[in-house]
Amino acid sequence: SASGLIVSFGEMLIDFVPTVSGVSLAEAPGFLKAPGGAPANVAIAVTRLGGKSAFVGKLGDDEFGHMLAGILKQNGVQADGINFDKGARTALAFVTLRADGEREFMFYRNPSADMLLTPEELNLDLIRSAKVFHYGSISLIVEPCRSAHLKAMEVAKEAGALLSYDPNLRLPLWPSAEEARTQIKSIWDKADVIKVSDVELEFLTGSDKIDDESAMSLWHPNLKLLLVTLGEKGCNYYTKKFHGSVEAFHVKTVDTTGAGDSFVGALLTNIVDDQAILEDEARLKEVLRFACACGAITTTKKGAIPALPTEADALALLKG
Ligand code: ADP
Repeated sequence: SASGLIVSFGEMLIDFVPTVSGVSLAEAPGFLKAPGGAPANVAIAVTRLGGKSAFVGKLGDDEFGHMLAGILKQNGVQADGINFDKGARTALAFVTLRADGEREFMFYRNPSADMLLTPEELNLDLIRSAKVFHYGSISLIVEPCRSAHLKAMEVAKEAGALLSYDPNLRLPLWPSAEEARTQIKSIWDKADVIKVSDVELEFLTGSDKIDDESAMSLWHPNLKLLLVTLGEKGCNYYTKKFHGSVEAFHVKTVDTTGAGDSFVGALLTNIVDDQAILEDEARLKEVLRFACACGAITTTKKGAIPALPTEADALALLKG
């Protein structure tokens, strides 16, 4: 199992999911609390697979914030990079897929505690000890956490960490699509490893083509690995020397939440101690098959965190 530390930076929140499906938020008879936030999911994906991770971010000093910190700790994620905001509350999201097929969102973010992390509050010693530093984009939406995000990236890079970026676009959270594109592009060429979904590829290229040419238009000279995830169609990978694709596993999908985070967590756990894998196509393909198995398993159960696999779960699916 992996011994290098993977530090995951960003938001953690609670999704309130209606207890019955196909209703509007106003009609929901009740809600289940599902802890989430992509960077937190990735941190737990790593520990569930036997790797070492820490979460860096801010929570409200309230019932929900302490519940979330407890979930990280119970899952073996180092919590010494978590700050609690005395004033603002933990972020909450209410999400439903209505009977008419439309997704309805409501957020408590005005602003929520996770957006209030300051550069001064960062645990720099922790960040400097990262072998891999992973992050998304939501922490770029507003200050002060945008500055905290940029500083954390810089400190991790200076200390020699591999930078891993999943833009994880949540468009309804942004003031405008243009602002989202600008912020994502402003940090694009800092990352060593980038994973985008097919939807994000379309958004960033402005074209509905999902092919090698459109993926390569996002390439930057210092990039080591670009991944395009395609849901039940698996993923495409690109490096300086080679590119190809890995098929998805056939499973009984019930909820795709967290599949991408599970995939990323699995990839990072497998490369943290051996980054030479990024230059060896056969070994990289092996790791991506493992990551696709992890993503697939995560779709077979409701929610993200409860559905993240152990190494044994993933190996069982790989053996078939
Ligand atoms: P994201 O959650 O970022 O949109 P994807 O949904 O593409 O990412 O999921 C990441 C990976 O998880 C995919 O590359 C695939 O291997 C696996 N996966 C996702 N959805 C399914 C599915 N319905 N069936 C099998 N595997 C899936």
